[in-house]
Amino acid sequence: KMNTDRRDEALFALLEREFERQRDGLELIASENFTSQAVMAAVGSVLTNKYAEGYPGKRYYGGCEVVDEVEQLAIARAKELFGAAWANVQPHSGSSANLAVYYALLEPGDTVLGMDLAHGGHLTHGSPVNFSGMNYRVVGYPVDRETERIDLGTVRQLALEHRPKLIIAGASAYSRVIDFAGFRAVADEVGAYLMADIAHIAGLVAAGVHPSPVPHAHVVTTTTHKTLRGPRGGLILSRDPELGKRFDKMIFPGTQGGPLEHVIAGKAVAFFEALQPEFKTYSEQIVRNARALAGALAGRGYRIVSGGTDNHCFVVDLRPQGLTGNKASKLLDEARITVSKSMIPFDPEKPWVTSGIRLGTPALTTRGFTEREMVAVADAIDRTLRGEDPRVVGAEVAALAQRFPMP
Ligand code: PLP
Repeated sequence: KMNTDRRDEALFALLEREFERQRDGLELIASENFTSQAVMAAVGSVLTNKYAEGYPGKRYYGGCEVVDEVEQLAIARAKELFGAAWANVQPHSGSSANLAVYYALLEPGDTVLGMDLAHGGHLTHGSPVNFSGMNYRVVGYPVDRETERIDLGTVRQLALEHRPKLIIAGASAYSRVIDFAGFRAVADEVGAYLMADIAHIAGLVAAGVHPSPVPHAHVVTTTTHKTLRGPRGGLILSRDPELGKRFDKMIFPGTQGGPLEHVIAGKAVAFFEALQPEFKTYSEQIVRNARALAGALAGRGYRIVSGGTDNHCFVVDLRPQGLTGNKASKLLDEARITVSKSMIPFDPEKPWVTSGIRLGTPALTTRGFTEREMVAVADAIDRTLRGEDPRVVGAEVAALAQRFPMP
């Protein structure tokens, strides 16, 4: 029986405050979600006590018979969910997954072609302040200036010019469908590996709401905590078990020590949940909500980058409102609306300031919000950004949020 000793009042008071913040606010950060109680139970379980360096059946510690089964369950479910022949569930995070893949496939100084950070790519896709940009020669592909979408013609041109050893398809702030088959054709033409980083859209891919990269990419990396709605963590998938062996080695012993078996258990629960029919309904609703929110904001005069969304997120260009992303996200915070500032394509502002905000609907959709509530959400955002007292809007926001309990 579990015994929760709460003498550490300072810490548990903070947990209470964070719980209230989550309960009473509108969570629109595109990379966040609310996990189920079952996922949290697994992550908060006795498995946190266990060391298990190695892999199921080949551990460097005794007493691993149970965690072996936990990890095997997670691997089997990940493979089933994504139709992959091989999976590694040990990466501590999305960044750890990407690190291991780069170490397995590249030598220092090799060329990588990934989405430009300012256009939606992730830090680990080649930021100069990240290991990816420090160790490799990174070339970024932009979105098209007119359509603000990825143009595979441009990707191909850059690939022919720079001859990358690895091409990355995937983004942190991109609202359109990614053509993984098209990326693979470019990779094949220049003899590059194709890595798809589906951290943001993994849940949509699992539910069949976004095309899967698994049949096309040499390797797929993801986080487990965004649209996939699992615990914070990473995952690597491949159709090719031979390549998989190289990634296994680069996770352990290459870049990590003991796996977080409690988190792996949480991943197993999340994969189980994502295999249920309700998860497809949930994922479809995420996209409907994102479209409804983008549409309602556009109707109030906001410019949506690329004109709309096909997935869970979109970026709003706030230059017409005379606001920066930094200023807007602070204003919205005061009204209990949580967003992240975001670069817009060809942004004149610096990354700390930015001209945009990124909005996503996975978290609100988990709480049961539908298109109807998205109109109220757009209204609250608009009123706050137009200078209405954030305390007034914030009180309405709290009342709205409380109608939709957290899991
Ligand atoms: N890849 C992409 C596309 C992401 O958006 C993120 C997270 O924001 C990551 C990788 C990294 O994940 P983590 O924050 O778990 O290291």
